Amino acid sequence: MEHDVIIIGGSFAGLSAAMQLARARRDVLVLDTGSTRNRFAASSHGFPGQDGRSPAMIREILRAELGKYPTIRFRDAEAMAASRQAEGFAVLLAEGEKVAARRLVLAYGLRDTLPDLPGLSERWGTSVLHCPYCHGYELNGQPVGVLARNELAMHQAMLLPDWGPTTLFTQGVFDPTSDQRQALVARGVSVEDAPVTGLIGPAPKLDAVRLADGRDVPLAGLFLAPQTAPTSDLVASLGCRTNDGPTGPYLAVDGMQATSVPGVFAAGDLAAPMANATLAAAAGVMAGGSAHRSLIFDPELTQTA
Ligand SMILES: Cc1cc2nc3c(=O)[nH]c(=O)nc-3n(C[C@H](O)[C@H](O)[C@H](O)COP(=O)(O)OP(=O)(O)OC[C@H]3O[C@@H](n4cnc5c(N)ncnc54)[C@H](O)[C@@H]3O)c2cc1C
Repeated sequence: MEHDVIIIGGSFAGLSAAMQLARARRDVLVLDTGSTRNRFAASSHGFPGQDGRSPAMIREILRAELGKYPTIRFRDAEAMAASRQAEGFAVLLAEGEKVAARRLVLAYGLRDTLPDLPGLSERWGTSVLHCPYCHGYELNGQPVGVLARNELAMHQAMLLPDWGPTTLFTQGVFDPTSDQRQALVARGVSVEDAPVTGLIGPAPKLDAVRLADGRDVPLAGLFLAPQTAPTSDLVASLGCRTNDGPTGPYLAVDGMQATSVPGVFAAGDLAAPMANATLAAAAGVMAGGSAHRSLIFDPELTQTA
């Protein structure tokens, strides 16, 4: 077999898995296309020891740390499909080559689909955001909004007053109950039922949102819950089970980050209902350790997950 483990996706989760396997002197191939989910943001926040660094810089630092371990190889290559074979797994690369390993760690993340609204996508990661813990602090207490896509907006609207005066835009898709409206009032949240039709200001900065009735509401940040999906369906043929999460499907894993397919582990956003960089890294540590243990305690891949 070519490698002990192939890791698909070399960001927070994949590189954390690689570190565990590198330190166990295992032969690992990391495949990565270099498009982390947070690449739209100039800086990443909350990752211990790296707060405020750019996503690209953090990836570079993590890769440099791994570079001193001789059993790790990186390939800037896209995995297109994965399949079971006699002693493990084969992975088909975009250039047509096949690589093989005894175990797989899937860490290829999620892609976000944003609502179709003029001015929204060019502000994603700067003033249009999904996570107040990641980027809310930098808005410096200025007015913020929540753009409803469904009832999840209630959760964001209740949190956001800790980051700035908050307006919930219901967009005709969320009609808070009277109890919910009372809770919003108690948190000081204004509710606006006129739909947002566009965003205003020199992008990626936001000055205001325009409403269908012509009014402008000044805002420094607009929060929303994007729809999410795995960046690839490359394991569809393996038959890994998925769960439905609040924003989209994600791979089902157990407490050891094992998927429903023996020998296949998954970590990071791809395998969590909601995540951030630190949680992705922690899950990657577990997935790397679990893949290692599986090589030792289940060499023939006989156990069901
Ligand atoms: C705009 C925005 C800002 C964010 N800011 C923060 C923040 O400040 N702090 C924070 O903690 N979290 C933040 N997050 C969340 C954070 O980006 C994710 O939780 C984190 O990136 C998940 O890490 P991951 O390793 O699971 O996946 P990713 O970081 O998304 O990495 C997946 C990797 O897999 C690669 N890949 C994909 N498909 C393939 C394939 N077929 N073959 C090979 N490689 C592939 C990708 O190129 C990528 O490098 C933000 C998210 C967004 C959308």
